[in-house]
Amino acid sequence: MFKRVLIANRGEIAQRIMRACRELDIETVCVYSTADKDAPYLQDADEAICIGPGPSKDSYLNISRIISAAEITDVDAIHPGYGFLAERADFSEICRECKIEFIGPSPEAMGKLGDKIEAKRYARAAKVPVFPGTEGEIEELEEAVEVAAEIGYPVIIKASAGGGGRGMRICRNEASLRTNVAKASQEALAAFGNGGVFVEKFLEHARHVEVQVLGDKHGNAIHLWERDCSMQRRHQKIIEEAPGPGIDRKKIEKVCEAAAKLVKSAEYSGAATVEFLMDEEQNFYMLEVNTRVQVEHPITEMITGVDIVKMSIMVAAGEKIPYKQKDVKVTGHAIECRINAEDHTKDFRPSAGLIETYRAPGGLGVRIDSHVCAGYRVPPNYDSMIGKLIVHAETRKAAITRASRALHEFKVGPINTTIPLHAELMQNSDFKEGGVDIHYLERLLKG
Ligand code: ADP
Repeated sequence: MFKRVLIANRGEIAQRIMRACRELDIETVCVYSTADKDAPYLQDADEAICIGPGPSKDSYLNISRIISAAEITDVDAIHPGYGFLAERADFSEICRECKIEFIGPSPEAMGKLGDKIEAKRYARAAKVPVFPGTEGEIEELEEAVEVAAEIGYPVIIKASAGGGGRGMRICRNEASLRTNVAKASQEALAAFGNGGVFVEKFLEHARHVEVQVLGDKHGNAIHLWERDCSMQRRHQKIIEEAPGPGIDRKKIEKVCEAAAKLVKSAEYSGAATVEFLMDEEQNFYMLEVNTRVQVEHPITEMITGVDIVKMSIMVAAGEKIPYKQKDVKVTGHAIECRINAEDHTKDFRPSAGLIETYRAPGGLGVRIDSHVCAGYRVPPNYDSMIGKLIVHAETRKAAITRASRALHEFKVGPINTTIPLHAELMQNSDFKEGGVDIHYLERLLKG
């Protein structure tokens, strides 16, 4: 096992990783930017090291500074968390060259599953259901037109190197497809340095369902079942839950098994998430594979009892996954509410600044993963998430009641947070019924 791990991240996930390390008896080195210099979680680290000013490109995204910090502090491994450098194959490669273990997949495995088109190839081979569409990148416009006619409109043009919901265009007829392929490609080239685009079937009404998987370096892979993350705004997840409400267990089991097979076929080690859209008939279509631990991993931990962050560290150190698939049992229902420093009544305007009041909920089945407290100043430089409320209960209904109760206790001020929005959503009859689609929240907000 590692002796010392550097955490190349900040906020709640830095704290989450430190917790796992301490329970594994591993020392931690936490890097920080000057904007985070007073962050309370830094006190939990064995060592904290400043890597630059607030802007991410000069600190959390600056590979040479992070590697220097790792060398100075003599760590054996780096955990990237999510965001920042987590899905950068070049970073994983540099770690390898510097003989520092990257806690995550090898650059090769990341290349196979992190690229949307490559991932689709592996997915087809592993019998993971994918969207009908072009086999790979569009070479000839006529080929795209032919494929679209076959699968039927609407279709969506996407960038192979895309991310964050950018560079996508929906086409409802052939004329629109003809004008948009070149435009999408130019846009992708400007945004991602890669002009490759492809076409797939566009689903009007879909739910976002994703499967948590874990692989090790010995060729083992298991899945930890699914999460439903359909409550979204601008492709950003707001509420996640596990298991997915109303999903046919036989169908989802097949999809989960295929997802584990996919990870195995790519010789992938670490935590990954295979994301799907599910249509109204509960057909699944793979969107992409996220080659890292996800924000919403705790709900899976709550229903399975598996510590996903610990697992990611253990498999990086060469240990075998200590579970067989049949050992993974689902108990109860979990819901996560992302608490963002935003004013949802003002178009989700960021609300950075000093937190004067902070009262976190507690009690049975309530978990808070957060790095903030009273006296903490939310810096304007980063993502607005200040924490996650995770609840677990025997049934979905009981989990919603528990979330409502916990949100009632949760007091953060004077900055604005999404707590009131979550409190409203827990009372929403469509949400209570289960199975809202990915555009539900935007429709609701528009009124
Ligand atoms: P990114 O990597 O940019 O996040 P994704 O492929 O994950 O791109 O898609 C982002 C979002 O766009 C999805 O969560 C979904 O809301 C929407 N989307 C993507 N593909 C489709 C599709 N074929 N049909 C309907 N919606 C889609």
